Amino acid sequence: MPTERPVLVAGGGPVGVIAALALARQGIPVRVFEAEARVDDSPRAATTHAATLEMLDELGLVDEVIRRGLIEPKFRIWDRAAREVIAEFDFGLLANDTRFPYVVQCEQHKLANMAIERLRGFAHASVDFCTRVTSLEQFDDRVDVVVEGANGTRKISGCYLVGADGGRSTVRKALGIAFEGYTHPERFLVLTTSFAFDAEYAQCSRNYFSDPDEWCALFKVSGDDGRGLWRVLFPTRVEETDEQALDEVAVQGRLQRFFPKRGPYPVVHRNLYNVHQRVAASFGRGRVFLAGDCAHVNNPLGGLGLNFGIHDAVELSDLLGKVLRGEAAAHSLDQYDRFRRPLNVEYVQQQTIANKKRLEEKNAAARAGNNEALRRTAADPVAHRAYLLRASLIDSVRKRAAAA
Ligand SMILES: Cc1cc2nc3c(=O)[nH]c(=O)nc-3n(C[C@H](O)[C@H](O)[C@H](O)COP(=O)(O)OP(=O)(O)OC[C@H]3O[C@@H](n4cnc5c(N)ncnc54)[C@H](O)[C@@H]3O)c2cc1C
Repeated sequence: MPTERPVLVAGGGPVGVIAALALARQGIPVRVFEAEARVDDSPRAATTHAATLEMLDELGLVDEVIRRGLIEPKFRIWDRAAREVIAEFDFGLLANDTRFPYVVQCEQHKLANMAIERLRGFAHASVDFCTRVTSLEQFDDRVDVVVEGANGTRKISGCYLVGADGGRSTVRKALGIAFEGYTHPERFLVLTTSFAFDAEYAQCSRNYFSDPDEWCALFKVSGDDGRGLWRVLFPTRVEETDEQALDEVAVQGRLQRFFPKRGPYPVVHRNLYNVHQRVAASFGRGRVFLAGDCAHVNNPLGGLGLNFGIHDAVELSDLLGKVLRGEAAAHSLDQYDRFRRPLNVEYVQQQTIANKKRLEEKNAAARAGNNEALRRTAADPVAHRAYLLRASLIDSVRKRAAAA
């Protein structure tokens, strides 16, 4: 490898450590700096789509992801008030398109920890926890970052820097790159319960419930012990405070209105998330590139944000590998911004915005029209497959490959 300086990665979330693993496997020295003491295990991404499973297979992670997650080929869209399935979609229809015609529900902290475990096997890779990147400076031949850790402040030089430090990214702000888009006035409340919805939802563990007053979503994840947990996601009311939304009586009321049952729900986690639709004005500048939530954020309806972030990590690592091995000129890295930014807008922003709009639609005629369109799509094998190719990000990967 012509470079002796490592690639630096700010952020040891799933995107940062997948980028690091993809680089380390090419023999490229890499150093990850993570501000926190450990991987964040709050309930966030779980849905891993086919296109991402194929990439994780290349990285040698897919068997463990499947073993520690749950395979689910279907998802359903319901009318909440009528308790009727509007449409059922089945990734099984993509059997000729992918080796993985399903999603795997595997929590993101498991994936990040798996990648970190693999990184430990490479002498040229390191992950420093409790180490925050605070500033950066670029030169013709390198990028320097200042990191703050338990032993004080250090300056570290690298050949390139991957900003994977999440939505509030220090790296993106240091570059002065705008985060264009908007933040929803409501927040999303995620309640995780050990109550087994399995009897009612045995046929499908990914469910979206459309409703003009309070839509919601219900998913099963395997949980750390593999025994299964269900997550129920609701929007908060705009005027509701954090305390009101998280209050035990309010939480139980929301769950009981959704699915009345005898006795209180055992709630093992309750979390509130701000919800944004934002894309960085550029995915890089000079020797610094943005990946994952640092570059784009979106609502979780469709389970696309982390999936696309992993695709960023894999593409960026491939491009950097070619440049560092002298197989491609440095300017070929421009492709990263040129292709990934529009792909994010077309596949992630557009789909997640449409998914939310459809679930919350208040106009009765528009709701009926949406429901009819969903039923027609699900009933027509050609339209059904086309819908799933887009929903699983296979289309975005194919579009990128065609442009190469
Ligand atoms: C409720 C919910 C459900 C979701 N469901 C899905 C889903 O099913 N599928 C999907 O694809 N996506 C989903 N998402 C989105 C997904 O969680 C994010 O896209 C994902 O976490 C992005 O990973 P990341 O590594 O880019 O950023 P993060 O996970 O935010 O990681 C960034 C890391 O950088 C560290 N950091 C921050 N600043 C610094 C610094 N200055 N120096 C060093 N380290 C720093 C942080 O501590 C953190 O560990 C969901 C999100 C939410 C909120």
